[in-house]
Amino acid sequence: MKEKTEEGLYGNQERENWPPYTYRDYPDITPENYRSFLSFLRTENTRHLEMELQAWISFCDSKCTFCYFPNESFHKERIEEYLLALKKELKMYAETCYIRSSEFDEVVLGGGTPTVLSSEQIVDLLSYCQKTFNVTEDPMIKVAASTHNVDKKKFKAVVDYAESVHARCAQMDIGVQTFDDSIRKMFNMQDSAVEAERMIKTARRLGLYVCIDLMFNLPGQTMEGFREDIKRALKLDVEGIDYYALSVVSGTPLAKQIQRGKIPPMGGSDLEKRMYLEAYEMFEEAGYTPTGHSRFARVAEWIDERCCVGWPWTGQLTAGAGAFMGYFERYSYVNIEPASAYINAVNRGRIPIAKLSISSEEEEMRKVMMRLYIRQPVDKQKFREQFGRLPEETFPRAISKLEKKGLIKVDNREIRLTKKGDVWRYNIAWEFGPRKKP
Ligand code: SF4
Repeated sequence: MKEKTEEGLYGNQERENWPPYTYRDYPDITPENYRSFLSFLRTENTRHLEMELQAWISFCDSKCTFCYFPNESFHKERIEEYLLALKKELKMYAETCYIRSSEFDEVVLGGGTPTVLSSEQIVDLLSYCQKTFNVTEDPMIKVAASTHNVDKKKFKAVVDYAESVHARCAQMDIGVQTFDDSIRKMFNMQDSAVEAERMIKTARRLGLYVCIDLMFNLPGQTMEGFREDIKRALKLDVEGIDYYALSVVSGTPLAKQIQRGKIPPMGGSDLEKRMYLEAYEMFEEAGYTPTGHSRFARVAEWIDERCCVGWPWTGQLTAGAGAFMGYFERYSYVNIEPASAYINAVNRGRIPIAKLSISSEEEEMRKVMMRLYIRQPVDKQKFREQFGRLPEETFPRAISKLEKKGLIKVDNREIRLTKKGDVWRYNIAWEFGPRKKP
């Protein structure tokens, strides 16, 4: 009761860990919506916003128990076939009118673990993207990595490649998750924290920007353990930290282990909140700015990342088996998986989509308000230009409620998340989302 009085709107509720409109709810593809997608791709992109291009290597050489991303066991002998299909899919998009009239500011190898590839394969795929699409003069190049299968040669290959295309930064996204070796083992991570730290230092020494994934509220994690994780992350002086509460997704090995009582459950909502708020202060004190979905960054390139700040959503071409983050304007899609079905679909000349969501205008308005969860403002005039009315006229109750509670700030120009609202940003997104299923 006490907490409800102090915290206001959400003090007595759980923190949401997902915003509305995630890929999980997209409907399966039908012949009609596939045709609608193809005819959209025949139109020109008139938005003139720089987009992001992601090629997913949907394979890992070991499976982390918490992971819900699409990935299969890596087999060296099968990868060439997959890479060929991936290039074919990318080419199918590149030949459409929409993509020919689009420009990409970020080229990302995601997944999965792209560092299961050799350095030659990594560079070949990056070069393929560069020559197949309109890429800006100073793109960002990003490669996701696991510390146990990356090495100096792969880091160096990315640095050299980025230099050759005049990239404004070359980034490795490295999944550390925790520096606690007992939890790393529980998660089936393949190397020790010390080995992971060594690789991160090597990457930074070679000139790469490093962003690490760090999770909190882990099974059995104490406040002391959580603080130790942050201190070790800060000591590495990385350019960014993607900081997430662990989300136990049903069907993952971790969810099954918790269900069977093999490992302790994660802490409750109160502990999670305490950890987040304390971490926020520690990151801020160390010079990091909260930005994007879950990032704390200390470099301008990430604080003002063009793909994030573009109004209202820039667009993201995501290719590869199971890739689920693709969207262009009203169209959001998820690709076919597993890799064998994906390769078959591509070889039949089909854009390999499994699910496709086409937003109505009402959903578009709701999605624009989702900018708050990525810590971006909602520009009121731009909203009016696009929809013919202001956000306050569209969502009067939600905006007034959140403003009164100090979770958002509204002025003549824009609507912004406040520092107090930051911890609740997914809950705030739900205020503008569709009604939740019971
Ligand atoms: S390396 Fe990354 S993608 Fe692969 S299982 Fe672990 S968390 Fe998932």
